[in-house]
Amino acid sequence: MAFLRDDLAQLTAYQSPHPDEKTAADQTPEPTNGKEAVLPAVPDRLDPLDTNESPIDLPDFIKAALAEQYEQAIAANRYPDSDQLALKRALITYAIQSGSLTPGSITPANITLGNGSDELIRSVIMATCLGGHGSVLVATPTFSMYSILAQTLGVPVRTVARKPSFEVDLTAAQAAIDAAAIDGPPVRVVFMVHPNSPTGNALTPSELTWLQQLPSDILIVVDEAYFEFSAQTTLAEALIRPNWLITRTLSKAFRLAAHRVGYGIGHPDIIAALEKLRLPYNLPGHSQAAALIALAHADQLLTQVPTILTERHKLLSALADYPALQVWPSQGNFVYVRLSNSPKAAHQRALTLLQAKDQKDGLMHLFEQLKAKGTLVRYTGGGLRISIGTAAENQRTLSNLQKIFGYPL
Ligand SMILES: *Cc1c(COP(=O)(O)O)cnc(C)c1O
Repeated sequence: MAFLRDDLAQLTAYQSPHPDEKTAADQTPEPTNGKEAVLPAVPDRLDPLDTNESPIDLPDFIKAALAEQYEQAIAANRYPDSDQLALKRALITYAIQSGSLTPGSITPANITLGNGSDELIRSVIMATCLGGHGSVLVATPTFSMYSILAQTLGVPVRTVARKPSFEVDLTAAQAAIDAAAIDGPPVRVVFMVHPNSPTGNALTPSELTWLQQLPSDILIVVDEAYFEFSAQTTLAEALIRPNWLITRTLSKAFRLAAHRVGYGIGHPDIIAALEKLRLPYNLPGHSQAAALIALAHADQLLTQVPTILTERHKLLSALADYPALQVWPSQGNFVYVRLSNSPKAAHQRALTLLQAKDQKDGLMHLFEQLKAKGTLVRYTGGGLRISIGTAAENQRTLSNLQKIFGYPL
């Protein structure tokens, strides 16, 4: 395979974190030949709390409207709309309302659509860093796709740490930018999630101030995938600063993960560059139709947001009763936990209960034990990220933790 790039040998293909498990309940069980079935290592049905999707599918009337579109409006033999103007206009209306901006402050020249915001992230890296032009800066733990996509493009990634509160270590971040300017390739794009995944913290005033003073030859991308849950946005920055782009998605609060619709808003020159890199028919007709219908019923779809926030509050306060666990406040539809490091006795007790030798080992055991009990979470960035599910799913998360730790009673 001498025609392949050498560096690709080090990469592995992206695997959906819950490949078949979500649908396991729908599959025909293995025949047991009349014998007693062997106890499965994993239950038939896992609560999929590992990818931060909405736990609730679209309401029936929206599915029906979509079916009708498919039957009557979408010509399957024709390419979909490549200009995507109707969807752009609907997203602009939503973005203006949700950000309380002046009508007309966002135009179609400010917006580009991606097959999920993942596509936009890749286009951003291509537009800023490809061919030795630049490197990417991220603060870990954070969304893994920035590094993964940069690596697939052979683009270097500079990584800096976060403080115990998960605020970015700004001194380290500045030092990394300064070092890259000397060693090359220089940092051309900084990715920040607002609020961050997996840790749930929103950008602080000092982080924002630091981002605002970065030089104009660095693009700041603020990933607002969880905007509907945090109600915090830097959209206004993206409209006044030529080096600021926000990305959002309909995969989370809008319940459209299956349809892969993401969007980016920023200066017309950035948008024009991203449009050059976009594949002509990147958004299938049914995805555009689904997004249009969802946006037309945004208020109704987003009524689930307060419910999820209430559930998040309930989960966090229950988790606070576990001395073995350290939890952080969250602005997203997920919470982040690690084994508590203090007091030392609580840490030791957690390790003993989990039969583990250290934090990492303990979290792996906790992950496996939760999975064996039917709760699938995400082990990432040195902690466990637990999506907020339905009330029943969250209740099962808590009762599974209670079984593992034996308390609170
Ligand atoms: C879920 C998520 C996305 C969404 O990606 P899509 O490709 O739009 O589904 C983007 N960024 C972050 C940080 C996410 O957690």
